[in-house]
Amino acid sequence: MQKFSVDDIRRSFVNASRSEVKAINFPADFDQFDWEQLDYLGWRDPKMPQRGYLVFPADTGLVGIALRAPEGGSGKIRKIICDLCRDVRSETDVYLYVARRAGHAGRDGNTVGTLICSDFRCSRNVRAEVSASRRHADWDTTRALQIEALTERTAKFVARVTG
Ligand SMILES: [Zn+2]
Repeated sequence: MQKFSVDDIRRSFVNASRSEVKAINFPADFDQFDWEQLDYLGWRDPKMPQRGYLVFPADTGLVGIALRAPEGGSGKIRKIICDLCRDVRSETDVYLYVARRAGHAGRDGNTVGTLICSDFRCSRNVRAEVSASRRHADWDTTRALQIEALTERTAKFVARVTG
C-alpha cells in the first residue's frame, strides 16, 4: 500500500467515536514502516493492548477499523489459522478480533468478528520465504497469488464492517 500520514489514518476510522480516534496510540516505529510490503496496516495499541487497528486502502478510499482483542489474552486461539493470511506455517497466535460495525448497526451493538494474527503480521506471512525443499517451482507466482488473496479477504472483512 502507499504511505499514509497519522492524520490520514485518524480520519479513516469508520467504527470509532471521535474520542476513541483521539485516544489511538501509534506504534513507536511508525516512521520506519515499509509501506510497500504491507497490504493493510495493523497494530495493537501500545498503551491499550486490548485495542487493535486495521487500516486498509479500499477501492473507495482508506478505511480504518477499530478492533477489540480478547481480554487478557483469554481468547487466544492457537493452532487455528488466520482468516486473512491463512498462513499455516506461522507460529504467532491468532486472536478473535471483534469490530463494531459502522454507523447505525454498530450503535445498535452489531459486531463482526474475525480471526487475525495477533500481531497483524499477515503481509509478512504471505511474503515469507519457504525452505528450498518446500518451495514451489514458481514461488514468485505463488507469492503474488497469496498477496492477492490476502488483499481480497481483507477487503471482504472491511466490507462486512462498513456494509
Ligand atoms: Zn494473518
